[in-house]
Amino acid sequence: MNPQSSILNPQSSILIEIKGLDFRYGQGTFRLVIPELCIARGEKVAFIGPSGSGKTTLIHLIAGILTPHAGSIRAGDVELTQQSDRWRRNYRISRIGFVFQEFELLEYLTVRDNILLPYYLNGLLRLAPEVRKTAEELAAAMNLGDKLKRHPKNLSQGERQRVAICRALIASPEVLIADEPTGNLDPETARAILALLLGEVERRGATLLMVTHNYALLDAFERVIDIGDFARGSRS
Ligand code: ADP
Ligand code: MG
Repeated sequence: MNPQSSILNPQSSILIEIKGLDFRYGQGTFRLVIPELCIARGEKVAFIGPSGSGKTTLIHLIAGILTPHAGSIRAGDVELTQQSDRWRRNYRISRIGFVFQEFELLEYLTVRDNILLPYYLNGLLRLAPEVRKTAEELAAAMNLGDKLKRHPKNLSQGERQRVAICRALIASPEVLIADEPTGNLDPETARAILALLLGEVERRGATLLMVTHNYALLDAFERVIDIGDFARGSRS
């Protein structure tokens, strides 16, 4: 199945539907149980919860990076848990923009090529001249305009994080998932980056799922989900 076309059903207002999810890692005692969770198309959701409560785990499940032991995760019309690894990888690259908690920048690529990476990885995306222009515009908006030729090792933490955000936005994803994208930024920059993320998401009619520890930012979201509630539920 082609992830480009199959996932899009503009008729449906539910984008992500989780039911009866039960997840454990191969090692350790951590368990995430989510009886039901729905996210509507275009919603802006913040995930909060104590460290180790499963925020990263949950967004990796939604992105198809991890698969649960039981339960269903639907994205649009597609049951993610029934797709092949290859399908889920293509789905992730073409439909989801993901800002990883550890950024996952490639050290041997320049800032420009790190931003364009989804286009190098996925044959379904065509690297047209407009895309290169968008990369430059995003970099400029993130105050990285003069750093396109640098390598990640010559950037500050905050700059690396902003490169990761540009990369997540470059392919105009349907869903932007960000794992503490303002975690290494000072309060003023954090607000500015969130405003930019919200603007880009709204402009594209996309959905924003963002993990944050920054309670000062929560009023910018339509819904706040506390993962600690699920983790506690799983131990009872
Ligand atoms: P959070 O993002 O809320 O801080 P995580 O989702 O990263 O939490 O982790 C939830 C729990 O799962 C933690 O107890 C963590 O140690 C454990 N965990 C995370 N990744 C793995 C892994 N690959 N193998 C085993 N346990 C893991
Ligand atoms: Mg985390």
